[in-house]
Amino acid sequence: MDIEELLGGLIRRLSRHAAVFRDSGHGSLLPAGDASKRYLLYLHIPYCIALCPFCSFHRVLFEPNSSKRYFESLRLEIAQATENAYAFDELYVGGGTPTVLPDELVTTINLVRAKHPVVDISVETNPDHLRPDALRKLRGAGVNRLSVGVQSFDDVLLKAMRRIDNYGSGNDIADRLVSVRGMLDTINVDMIFNLPNQTEASLRRDLDILIDRVAADQVSFYPLMTSDSTKAEMSRTMGPPDLSRQKDYYELIVERMLSAGYCRSSAWCFSRKPGMFDEYIADREEYVGLGSGAFSYLQGALYANTFSINGYMQMLEDGKGGTVSQRKMSDQDQKRYYLLMRLFGGTLNKQQAEARFDGGFQHGLWPELTALKAINAVKDTGDSLSLTERGYYLWVILMRDFFTEINTLREQLRHEPA
Ligand code: SF4
Repeated sequence: MDIEELLGGLIRRLSRHAAVFRDSGHGSLLPAGDASKRYLLYLHIPYCIALCPFCSFHRVLFEPNSSKRYFESLRLEIAQATENAYAFDELYVGGGTPTVLPDELVTTINLVRAKHPVVDISVETNPDHLRPDALRKLRGAGVNRLSVGVQSFDDVLLKAMRRIDNYGSGNDIADRLVSVRGMLDTINVDMIFNLPNQTEASLRRDLDILIDRVAADQVSFYPLMTSDSTKAEMSRTMGPPDLSRQKDYYELIVERMLSAGYCRSSAWCFSRKPGMFDEYIADREEYVGLGSGAFSYLQGALYANTFSINGYMQMLEDGKGGTVSQRKMSDQDQKRYYLLMRLFGGTLNKQQAEARFDGGFQHGLWPELTALKAINAVKDTGDSLSLTERGYYLWVILMRDFFTEINTLREQLRHEPA
């Protein structure tokens, strides 16, 4: 069995198992929290002012009345989780565009802070909401990290992505990023590389803007991800994807970001200083996801909330929970998931892994670990396992495929009845 086959099998097996969800009863609550633990809380806000053709997240067009009612439902679900013995020390608000109704967002964050010892708060946004007054409001609510979806500064590509009319030209976006520089601990810029028709010159220009003009605190460079639901629309508006350039473009990004003094926070996230990054699932093993379409991973099981936004609001208003399905992962799959997520951050602490799996981690995964070492993707440094340069690129591919499978799973769940 070659390494691609082995690792591809790892992803497919994880995804296939994760995809077989069982109905947990519509409107269920999550299992009770462990009062001795602190969890990461993810809140999903599914509204956007326009829908980008490449995006396969759970998102719908913004409508003010529905969005307001949605935030009220979300606060009911937060209260339920609090009563259900969950204590949160970290909050991540994603979407969609969480800042579509800033006052509702701040009220929701304040509710979490009033009940939980939250120290880190990260919020996703889009460039049109990058205004100093808006950021002051978020800072007042304790937000210390903002993640801005930019994707590219190239106007031709922004137009193809149907973003230029809604979020401004590359030049406008760079100006806005400069105008809010330093207002929060970390402002992350989300970019995509290997977009259809993206040239090497365009990518080099994006890197120049990020490093020399914006001086971004943190940059997350996602490889282009496609899913069955977006492939046709993306090819029509942006052009067909071309994987042949992916490796060269990734190497270009790594070389430029590291030589500009950034450190790796994950295989595709680069930071000037340590701190939070977008892939909280690589950082925290367990998390609670609330809101329509949110996933939770607790006690080795994956839980999904309903993707029907109206159904979600109705369930919460009726005093029920938002969870509709669950999947218990086998012990072996939990180990593989752990390996995938920890090494996405670059390093896996062997002692912690053995403690987590009662001493059976390396023994249980010896075929995967042997193969990863044999192809020089992972090196054993005594206390830990670390990705090599080759391993970082391999992990970009593995995580790209993992998120693509999650997008396919979202697609399946979206079509289930409310
Ligand atoms: S990329 Fe961002 S702004 Fe565009 S549809 Fe997806 S979540 Fe909304």
